[in-house]
Amino acid sequence: MKATKLFALICLLGMVSVARAQEWHPELTELWDPVPPLVTPGMGLSAPSDALILFDGTDLSGWEKVRGGNAEWVVADGVLTVAPGTGDIKTRNVFGSVQLHIEWRTPSKVEGDGQGRGNSGVFFHETYEVQILDSFNNVTYSNGQAGSIYKQYIPLVNASKGPGEWQIYDIIFESPVFAESGAVIKPAFVTVLHNGVLIQNHVEIKGHTPYIGLPKYTPHGKGSIKLQDHGNPMSFRNIWVREL
Ligand code: MG
Repeated sequence: MKATKLFALICLLGMVSVARAQEWHPELTELWDPVPPLVTPGMGLSAPSDALILFDGTDLSGWEKVRGGNAEWVVADGVLTVAPGTGDIKTRNVFGSVQLHIEWRTPSKVEGDGQGRGNSGVFFHETYEVQILDSFNNVTYSNGQAGSIYKQYIPLVNASKGPGEWQIYDIIFESPVFAESGAVIKPAFVTVLHNGVLIQNHVEIKGHTPYIGLPKYTPHGKGSIKLQDHGNPMSFRNIWVREL
């Protein structure tokens, strides 16, 4: 390399390093806007300040039967309990993507086994089920136990508490997005914590929740959150949602 070329190269490198030093300041990577809204976190059983309370222990005004009419499940002592045979219930409000908190309890008196013991479920858009089941010393198919995305995803671990104990699901559900044509632009995703333990990590939902056959998508807009009457006297409390 000729001396003049070498000199030019050294000058260029020098200019670049000077420019870099001038360009980069800590402030250049600081974002001050937007400022996240203030939310007061819940304490104990209370919901965060921006949550919509779906069940506060007093009434079922936010719910109705999936078959139509007022929900007939039993509210007593701050607890909601399935009245077996009265059918699934769903929120009167409709939602897109949400964070849902729900506490549930399987009967303390153990009856039945497999899918027949302490079965319910949370369905987003009345369609995509996160299974609720008594999975404490109760064998069933793994993609049907508590915390499974029913018949789609086995939970990462079994974080179940025993019969009669309160358990918690914290669920982040991202709604699917559909084109005008009905094609899936973006499938649904779900993340589930069971009693504070991660059991579903942003898994891609494959479609609805058939008992027989394979899941598929049918286009929809916002939808209700449904709780399942599977014939067991399951209880619930402290249900709240934050739309995302
Ligand atoms: Mg179920």
